[in-house]
Amino acid sequence: MSDLTRSASQSALSVAEAAERLRGGDLVGFPTETVYGLAADATSCDAVAKIFALKGRPATNPLIVHVSDIATARRYAADWPAAAETLANAFWPGPLTIVLPKANSIPSIVTAGGATVGLRVPAHPVALELLKAFDGPLAAPSANRSNHVSPTTAAHVREEFGAAVAVLDGGPCSVGIESTVVDLSGKGWRVLRPGGITAEAIAKVLNSTMDVAAAGATDILRSPGQLEVHYAPRTPAFRFEAHERLGIDLVDAVVLEPTLDPSTYARNLYARLRMLDTQGLRAIYIELPPDTAAWRAIRDRLMRATRPMPK
Ligand code: AMP
Ligand code: MG
Repeated sequence: MSDLTRSASQSALSVAEAAERLRGGDLVGFPTETVYGLAADATSCDAVAKIFALKGRPATNPLIVHVSDIATARRYAADWPAAAETLANAFWPGPLTIVLPKANSIPSIVTAGGATVGLRVPAHPVALELLKAFDGPLAAPSANRSNHVSPTTAAHVREEFGAAVAVLDGGPCSVGIESTVVDLSGKGWRVLRPGGITAEAIAKVLNSTMDVAAAGATDILRSPGQLEVHYAPRTPAFRFEAHERLGIDLVDAVVLEPTLDPSTYARNLYARLRMLDTQGLRAIYIELPPDTAAWRAIRDRLMRATRPMPK
C-alpha cells in the first residue's frame, strides 16, 4: 500500500465511528440504495434540528425515519395495519417509504409537526450495518442543501457540505432517485411521491387499487414539503416533450436524451446533472421520457428540476 492510499483509508470513516458520532448527537452522511442520506438520531430533537439548519430545509418538510428491520419499524408506528405488513414483506429492504401514524417516541420536529411518520428499511449493506451499530432509528433526508440535486456518491455529499459532515462511503447508489412514498395512515392507500416501486406494483401486492377518491383528481398526491422546484441544477434547465425538439438553440447548451432504460437513466441522472452543472453552460435542455408507469418517477423529478421551454 502506498503512503497516499494508506492515509486515505486511515481517514475513511468506519461504521463504528459513524454510529458513535450519531450517539453523540452529530450528523453523518451515509449511503442508501436510493441517494445518500444525512442522518441524525431520530429520537433527539437537538440532533434532528441540525439537519434542518445545515440543509436550509423548511421546517414544514418531514424527514424519513430509517430502521434496520420490520420489527423496529413497528415500534415507531402507533398503528401497524395488515397492508403495512404486506408491503414491508414485499418491498423491504428497498426504496419504499411507508407513512403511518407516528409513535410518541418520534419527536414532532421529524414529522414537520404532523401525526404521521414515514418509515423505511434501506437496501444498502452499509446503511443496514450503520442502523444495527447505532441500534435505533435514523432520521435522514437526502444529503444535499435544500432544493439542490440529491447526491448519489460520497463525493457529491462532500461537494455539498465539505468538512462539516463526515461521510460513510458505500460507492455509487444503485437506484439513484428517492424512494416511493406510500401513505397507509388513512383509508386505503395512496402514493404521495412516485419512485422506483410503482403504484401498479403496490396495487398488485395489496390486491387493491389506489384510493383515488382520497387522492383527488390526480393519482399522485404531493407529500408535505414537496416543492415545485426541487432536485434542481444551478444551470437553467428546460424540459421538452420529444415532439418539441426542433428549434432548440444548442449554442453553449446540451440536450439530455432518454435513450437508456428507466433504471439506468435513474441511476445516472443526478450525477449527470451535477456534471453538467460544472460545465458553465447557458442551458441544459432535457427531453422528457414517455409518460408511462416505468418512467413516472423520473418524469416527476425532471418536472421539478426544470422549467418549461421558453416560448
Ligand atoms: P427527502 O429525503 O429529502 O427526499 O425528503 C423526504 C420526503 O419524504 C419529504 O419531502 C416528504 O415528501 C416525504 N415524507 C416524509 N415523511 C412524511 C410523512 N410523514 N408524510 C408524508 N410524506 C412524508
Ligand atoms: Mg431531498
